Amino acid sequence: MIQSIDIRFDEITREKEKTPKEIERLKENLDLLSNAIEQDLSTIEELKKVRRTVERDLEAIESKFQKSKLRLNDVKSNKEYQAILKEIEEQKELIFKKEEAVIKCMEDIEIQEKECADNNGRLKESQQEFENKQDEFLQRMRDLDNEAQSLNGKRAELCQKVDKNLLERYNRLRKNLRGRVVTQVINTICQGCNLGIPPQQYNELIKGGSIQSCPNCNRIIYWEEHREV
Ligand SMILES: [Zn+2]
Repeated sequence: MIQSIDIRFDEITREKEKTPKEIERLKENLDLLSNAIEQDLSTIEELKKVRRTVERDLEAIESKFQKSKLRLNDVKSNKEYQAILKEIEEQKELIFKKEEAVIKCMEDIEIQEKECADNNGRLKESQQEFENKQDEFLQRMRDLDNEAQSLNGKRAELCQKVDKNLLERYNRLRKNLRGRVVTQVINTICQGCNLGIPPQQYNELIKGGSIQSCPNCNRIIYWEEHREV
């Protein structure tokens, strides 16, 4: 039937319009992950710079600390001795703080590297999913195109067999109405608009032999005994 072909055409058109959105969403997800990884890498780079600076500070203080200890050997007075001891205490304190800062840096780098590795894993998965979906989508598009092509052939074949006036009427209705333009009448009710057909017309319809339209919605109507409920 031409109508079922046309309804399938509509479905194909709708499906061809909606599918790329899913692919787009996956692509957006890929971009988000790539940005996150870039951000991770630059944070790691920053942290490493900080660590190098702190390590250099630490080396400088340690060398001062060694010199201070050596100076203890040739002090001249108790006052001087006390001053150097105080200096050494302060240096020890500072060394301790810097060492803690280095450890904190290394921990932060480790956390950031773990996050970066996780994001990389997610990116690989998403990339795979994206590629699979895209392959699926392209295959589906090819299938739909093939189906549409074969439907076109079938439709042309059917059109040659159908009464020209009826076909024209059908095509005109299809332009104005959504979905089915040929519809069944069950117990005097048009299934297109759910309104009743006048009794006289209903009798004509049951008799058959003429093409009838629903007086309410203009759809082409038909009646089938075995489907009546
Ligand atoms: Zn109707």
